[in-house]
Amino acid sequence: MRIGQGVDVHPFDASRPLILGGIRISDTNGLAGHSDADAVLHAITDALLGAAGAGDIGQYFPSTDERWRGADSALFVREAKRLLDERNAEIANLDVTILAQQPKLAPHRDAIVASVAQLLDLPQGHVNVKATTTDHLGFIGRAEGICAMAVVLVEIDR
Ligand code: MG
Repeated sequence: MRIGQGVDVHPFDASRPLILGGIRISDTNGLAGHSDADAVLHAITDALLGAAGAGDIGQYFPSTDERWRGADSALFVREAKRLLDERNAEIANLDVTILAQQPKLAPHRDAIVASVAQLLDLPQGHVNVKATTTDHLGFIGRAEGICAMAVVLVEIDR
């Protein structure tokens, strides 16, 4: 068994859509970033790469590369999953925490779980998504940005 962890933070950009876990939450009040700024999928990508022992998202998809401007972050997750598949690693479970003062994410939780499970070709029971605020503390609490964290456990089939 191997474990991987991923963390990502993006600042808000009111002019962009908010996309988390591959779900378009709103057409405005989104996140700034080179790609679609899906902090949830970025954290998941890094968790998968961590479990694979394969570095980090910036090595594969640098924000200086024009190819990834506005990119659908599903692409990053798929590449990390491919690297796990190459290593005969199967995902046992994936747990995600989203730290956001706003918007309320509970109504979107099931959709995000379904989206991530489909992206990784997993039963929904293997994916858990939690959302929390920071009770108005810090940059998250001031609604300056969103943080996503992901932990994944994989089993290597030898
Ligand atoms: Mg990111």
